[in-house]
Amino acid sequence: MATASTAVSGTARRNADLLARRSAAIPAGIVTATPAFAARARNAEIWDVEGNRYVDFAAGIAVCSTGHCHPEVIAAAEAQLHGFTHTSFQVMAYEPYVALAERLNALVPVAGPKKTIFFNSGAEAVENAVKIARLATGRTGVIAFAGAFHGRTLMTTALTGKTLPYKRGFGTLPGEVWRVPFPIAHYGVSVEASLAAMDTLFRTDADPGSIAAMVVEPVQGEGGFHAAPPAFLQALRELCTKHGILLICDEVQSGFARTGRLFAVQHAGVEPDLVTMAKALGGGFPIAAVTGRAEVMDCVHPGGLGSTFGGSPISCAAALAVLDVIEREDLPARAASIGETLRARFEGWSRRDDLLPIAHVRGLGAMMAFDVVRSRGSDEPDPEGAKRVAARAFELGLILLSCGIYGETLRFLTPLTIPDEVLEEGLAICERALAV
Ligand code: PLP
Repeated sequence: MATASTAVSGTARRNADLLARRSAAIPAGIVTATPAFAARARNAEIWDVEGNRYVDFAAGIAVCSTGHCHPEVIAAAEAQLHGFTHTSFQVMAYEPYVALAERLNALVPVAGPKKTIFFNSGAEAVENAVKIARLATGRTGVIAFAGAFHGRTLMTTALTGKTLPYKRGFGTLPGEVWRVPFPIAHYGVSVEASLAAMDTLFRTDADPGSIAAMVVEPVQGEGGFHAAPPAFLQALRELCTKHGILLICDEVQSGFARTGRLFAVQHAGVEPDLVTMAKALGGGFPIAAVTGRAEVMDCVHPGGLGSTFGGSPISCAAALAVLDVIEREDLPARAASIGETLRARFEGWSRRDDLLPIAHVRGLGAMMAFDVVRSRGSDEPDPEGAKRVAARAFELGLILLSCGIYGETLRFLTPLTIPDEVLEEGLAICERALAV
């Protein structure tokens, strides 16, 4: 078997050689945050092809919340591999799909009877949630928020609220997508201002009777880890109910224990009509889901929804194990405690003169972030600073991601199964990377 530093052919593999092959074979449009190539990963650690070890504070962009290669998840996937790998649920159904749907129907915080359908990616889940909402309401308009990220298909690109790199140059996007500012205090947008903009939109451009759905991330992910204030989500719920609009919560990044509850929207006590999920659900295997009110989900005619690979039996088996692990290891509680550790550390860093100036420590549970700013006490974003810290952290052995509409935010997405000593090790590296 190939080891961390030996190629299948027996010759040593080097990151630099693979990078050269990568740039020759793969288009520039897909970027990679780090210059190394993975060879092996376990829980919160990754080794590259040269045998270098990294503490992983990215978890494959919020996917490996149960850690890389959780033994139970791997065992469940392996057991399924020995049965069959694919039939397409549209050709011959299988129990893991049904069992996972039943499980999500019991867990997702939507009122009343529920149904669930599976897809492959977060974007596909959002795309299909919009299709379902359009059929269920007979309307086409969709409201989305500034700074939102919902994916890279054409509809989800239209819903996404950041031009570069996601929208620029891709031409005409699906229409009747309306944008409202997302409440972020340090950008000067209050809950009241956001709701006033919605009111203006309804009066000037988009009659509420033409709107099928509002799509909202309870905690914005790529937009910078901004938690929607509970009062805001409650107000959206009221507006949706009043106008017959469906509320779609996109929990692709915030879901599955990351914020200290199974779903972030539960912090606000709000019940959406539809919930989109992906990422951590599969524990490293690709799967996405839409769960919604049964009468809404059943509005679509037979054949109107589907996907060749959606709800792969291997991913469904893995996801069932992920849900078991979340429950048995009480990962919501672990997320809350990781969040407390991170918050205390970041607040300490924000007061130190020997570190780069950071501000706006924020987050929900273990979905934590802060901004790198130009000077202490200012709100002026320093995206180059954030990029430098992430690059320096990588050189020191920590994988750390940036985000935010200016790229000024460093976000922390540790596996929730991370042992305390690895968490401490990663934080110590981050502190060194922040040194001026
Ligand atoms: N929705 C949210 C909130 C996300 O964070 C993402 C990805 O980061 C997506 C949708 C798109 O998911 P995918 O990349 O699996 O298509």
